[in-house]
Amino acid sequence: MIARIDAERLDAADPLNPFRERFALPEGLVYLDGNSLGALPKGAVARVAAAVTREWGEGLVRSWTDAGWVDLPRRVGDRIARLVGARPGEVVCTDSTSVNVFKVLSAALALRPGRLTIVSEEGNFPTDLYVAEGLAELLARGHRLHLVAKGELLSALDTDTAVLLLTHVDYRTGERHDLPAVTRAAHEAGALVVWDLAHTAGAMPVELDAAGADFAVGCGYKYLCGGPGAPAFLYVAARHQEVFRQPLSGWFGHAAPFAFEPGYRPAPGISRALSGTPPILSMTALDAALDVILEADLSLVREKSEKLTSFFVEAVEQECGAAVRLVSPRDPVRRGSQVSFAYPDGYAVIQALVARGVVGDFRVPDVLRFGFAPLYVRFVDTWDAARALAEVLSSHAHERPEFRRRLAVT
Ligand SMILES: *Cc1c(COP(=O)(O)O)cnc(C)c1O
Repeated sequence: MIARIDAERLDAADPLNPFRERFALPEGLVYLDGNSLGALPKGAVARVAAAVTREWGEGLVRSWTDAGWVDLPRRVGDRIARLVGARPGEVVCTDSTSVNVFKVLSAALALRPGRLTIVSEEGNFPTDLYVAEGLAELLARGHRLHLVAKGELLSALDTDTAVLLLTHVDYRTGERHDLPAVTRAAHEAGALVVWDLAHTAGAMPVELDAAGADFAVGCGYKYLCGGPGAPAFLYVAARHQEVFRQPLSGWFGHAAPFAFEPGYRPAPGISRALSGTPPILSMTALDAALDVILEADLSLVREKSEKLTSFFVEAVEQECGAAVRLVSPRDPVRRGSQVSFAYPDGYAVIQALVARGVVGDFRVPDVLRFGFAPLYVRFVDTWDAARALAEVLSSHAHERPEFRRRLAVT
């Protein structure tokens, strides 16, 4: 049997515990949704305020050079590179994850001209699949999106597979792919791989270069804590950069944007992945968040993440019994930084938990999803969330009508 005191002891021994102070979290709230919207880093408040009042208010257009705005996508990209095992010049911060999937998938398909199949998995995050569908339609060359079950991915690769499009950590179940092994298998089949690191970056180390990865994208507002709608990132392995061409060939990706030439010439290196003017205020918030995240040792972050998720699984199973069913892998090594349980009336349960100050989220059809951002989630939070879940289920609090009304964002 475990109890709250065990969680308190784990917190006292946690080397990352001091990081929580760096985030503005409402008193008394148990926030287990940092995999959807990361918490606000306190340092971002002053940084964004200064960017607004000084850089924008006083510097005006001069800030493109004086405040270094024009290089911000590459500077922030180089910092994110350190989190994903890439070298400087392989990552750039830009656009949304959806838009970046479009860009790298286009580039990857162009590098495999004789092949027409994009392989992905049935449970992949829908935006990635929708973008792949849209791109195939736009290309009108007979590309098709072939969706298979997770266990059949590698056997689905054949001589027609151009690209394997995968999310490293499953947004619903939290199951984690073996990135180096899958990358190797795809390369053996002659295909390229696009990795979506939305639920990876900032939560665990990943070694893109060492794995021989081709392309990757990821999210700025989840574990990277860049704020709502923060720009995303995009990785192109150095060996592909010279031939990397993407169709959103805007002026920021031009070799000489201020030469205003009529024809497009791609910039050297990762800059050719850029399209238009970067969102400076959002990117500044993300840059400030990275100050905190880069201070943490990612191997400690991963170690804590495995312990947090394991403690939560144990606490929920002890306190709730068989009422809920674990849908995440039981082996912590095979999980990302989240834990999901299935419950038939899951949506209402999440609403009842939110009303008690425990924020997780719901994913169709029946998934209660809890994310554990290791820099600010404590072991006591996992215990308190498990207890709140047990109380909701035993008191049937979720059966009240107000918890069944669907909100626009779940
Ligand atoms: C959150 C998430 C996205 C989000 O894409 P946006 O363009 O930022 O809306 C994309 N892919 C995955 C796997 C995600 O989890």
